[in-house]
Amino acid sequence: MRAILGSISALYRTVAKGHGPQWYLRPKLHTWQQTIAHHLSKLGWLNTGPWTWTHNDCGDIDMSNMQGKDETMHRIRESWRRQLFCKWLASHRRELQNFPHLVYDEKRIFAVRKAYQQNCVHARAVLTGAAVSDACFKAMCREEIDNHCVHCNDQVIPSWHHSCWECAAFSHSRPSVPSDEVQKRLGWPLTITRKGNSWFLSREDKQILQHMALVRAQLLSARYD
Ligand SMILES: [Zn+2]
Repeated sequence: MRAILGSISALYRTVAKGHGPQWYLRPKLHTWQQTIAHHLSKLGWLNTGPWTWTHNDCGDIDMSNMQGKDETMHRIRESWRRQLFCKWLASHRRELQNFPHLVYDEKRIFAVRKAYQQNCVHARAVLTGAAVSDACFKAMCREEIDNHCVHCNDQVIPSWHHSCWECAAFSHSRPSVPSDEVQKRLGWPLTITRKGNSWFLSREDKQILQHMALVRAQLLSARYD
């Protein structure tokens, strides 16, 4: 990603000086055109003409003039994030099978990114689907999953849902159960608001994520300490 953004910035510097970049039908290797076209194609952009591309989800871009430079850079970054999101979704297909309609939502993913940056390692694991329940851990160790939660002693499969939202052992930090299914599973905030130069999660979103992070920390501690 850094390579393509560097090449585009270099391209825009020449455009700013009034030298419209030349477009070759057969670009030489290691030129801006070749580098940019190669990386954009890998991100799902289709070349539509000299310095113009289109993307199914991110619209059209035109690098032949300075107008719209910031928007162009933004759209390219978004196409990269969408691609990462699809790869992440594919790698968690089994765990996320309850959310067949989970799609990339730019505003929500922005809130998730900010929540990730502002929180601890346990919250980050929750947000990325890397928190492992006791039941899942047993499955990973190829052991039989007992119908028993060692934390509350109930006859129940110790799933991530149980630990976060039902288990009496983790009730002290528990807020109301979120109605949003993705938030219930991954702690993804619903909204984020800007004050000055900073971004803030709502109190509810923060409480939910912090509770889930605490549950993850306690599961790990009971498992390994
Ligand atoms: Zn329990």
